[in-house]
Amino acid sequence: MNHNSSSGHDVLVLGAGFAGLATASYLSKAGHKVKVLERHDQLGGRARKFEAEGFTFDMGPSWYWMPDVFERYFEDFGSEVNKEMNLVRLDPSYTVWFDDGPLEIPAGLDPLAEVFESIEPGAGDKLHAFMAEAEVKYNIGMNKFVNKPAHNALEFAEWQTLVDATRLSLFTSFSAFARKHFTHPKLLQIMEFPVLFLGAKPQDTPALYSLMNYADTCLGTWYPMGGMNEIVQAMVRVAERMGVEFQCNAEVAAILDDGRRATGVRLADGTEVHASAVVATGDYHHTEQKLLAPQWRRYDQSYWENRTMSPSSLLYYVGLNTRVPELQHHNLFFDTPFGPHAETIYDSISWPNDPLFYVSAPSRTDEGVAPEGCENLFFLIPLAPGLDEQGGERDRYFEEIMVRLERHLGRDLRPHVVYTRSFAHKEFEQEYSSFKGNAYGLANTLRQTAFWKPKMRSKLPGLHFAGQLTTPGPGVPPSLISGEVAAEETSKFLKCHGAVEHATAHAG
Ligand SMILES: Cc1cc2nc3c(=O)[nH]c(=O)nc-3n(C[C@H](O)[C@H](O)[C@H](O)COP(=O)(O)OP(=O)(O)OC[C@H]3O[C@@H](n4cnc5c(N)ncnc54)[C@H](O)[C@@H]3O)c2cc1C
Repeated sequence: MNHNSSSGHDVLVLGAGFAGLATASYLSKAGHKVKVLERHDQLGGRARKFEAEGFTFDMGPSWYWMPDVFERYFEDFGSEVNKEMNLVRLDPSYTVWFDDGPLEIPAGLDPLAEVFESIEPGAGDKLHAFMAEAEVKYNIGMNKFVNKPAHNALEFAEWQTLVDATRLSLFTSFSAFARKHFTHPKLLQIMEFPVLFLGAKPQDTPALYSLMNYADTCLGTWYPMGGMNEIVQAMVRVAERMGVEFQCNAEVAAILDDGRRATGVRLADGTEVHASAVVATGDYHHTEQKLLAPQWRRYDQSYWENRTMSPSSLLYYVGLNTRVPELQHHNLFFDTPFGPHAETIYDSISWPNDPLFYVSAPSRTDEGVAPEGCENLFFLIPLAPGLDEQGGERDRYFEEIMVRLERHLGRDLRPHVVYTRSFAHKEFEQEYSSFKGNAYGLANTLRQTAFWKPKMRSKLPGLHFAGQLTTPGPGVPPSLISGEVAAEETSKFLKCHGAVEHATAHAG
């Protein structure tokens, strides 16, 4: 049954991840009536949570970084981070497990410089120099550029001036930049991990992204007690206070237009919901190819086939009936060389042997996320996007992780496993319509930075895109920022073009 409803909303936001929640709240603050349509029965997108056997698992993000972004966000809505969440700073920030044992990465620059100095004489001072430049990049990025819609290169003209004036290395490769400062392989792996996990090979990542090292080391790694989903809940509370309406179990099947501009959406059950503007925060490829009429598509299939996607992931949510005090909250297992693993992600597009992996153990910080005496573990293996499963891979890699852990911890955790669930490409495609099952959007390569990212403004007037596939990029803070920018652009559009007339708007 088809029925139309004008819904009385100015803007419909498709998707309730960080980008959708931020877009909706900023638009509401600007005085617009906003409704968010979310296909799942729970808000939060990739940062949803689930409960099983007494464990509470965050489904996606586990690192709370760039705390300044969240502080500003909640202040923009008359609140404060500390009123909304109980945040703790992790110290050590994380542990890197090398072949010869664990290395704790302490919170803060001075203690980390001491660790660097102990591994490579002179590296402590070099770390200070590296971070001084990374701090300038972070401040320029955050204050001058991150809030740009990136419609065209002119917005970044000032960037070039700053680069010239400060002689910052923004566009040399991250790999070369790191090697200018350090030579010890352990130090290089520590410096390169933030760009690797959210993007491309360090050789293909511009040195601009050393701002992530600054964020990691100097601004700290934090954790909201209760889990990362607490951020979602706080953002939903803010949105509701702003008057945003939410509709869950609302799968958008098409974006409607009247030949001149976006006029609303059609849901999978045939209901049409009309509004004067639409912001789409789901997968960009899916939205253009599946929800938009062909004449409004800016990018064809070959454009997407030629993008470098960030890695997909094989995830395991695991409950243990024992504690594992040897693990820290965040653990990176860099006990095998990354070169062959990276080659499978970016070049041969194949399943890796001996991959690096990451383990989060939030119950080390927060006993509330596991039953008493138990441990809540989340494993992540970065994988090439677009990989097909032949069957058996999930068991094989789980076994491999358990064997590697046994080697490092000196005991077998397998008899203690009381819950497991895995999640990989197939689930990323099913749950988020994710192109090639990617986990976190486009890789941060130079060719895919700023105005080289998919455009926020659609060819269809009144439709904007936000989220991790748009500017500024993947990660919780960038997705949230993209929502703010898309809200501004949508407000500008509504100011110039006004409300759309819905001549046919009636129930029936
Ligand atoms: C495993 C994993 C670990 C990560 N770790 C970190 C981390 O530690 N720190 C960090 O900062 N970032 C991390 N990230 C990245 C971060 O989680 C994402 O960049 C961010 O959550 C993306 O938010 P978003 O709003 O752009 O997209 P999403 O969260 O994907 O939200 C899009 C929403 O749109 C909905 N939707 C899609 N299509 C439709 C439709 N047709 N109709 C209705 N609704 C629709 C989806 O259901 C979803 O809720 C991680 C990501 C993953 C997957």
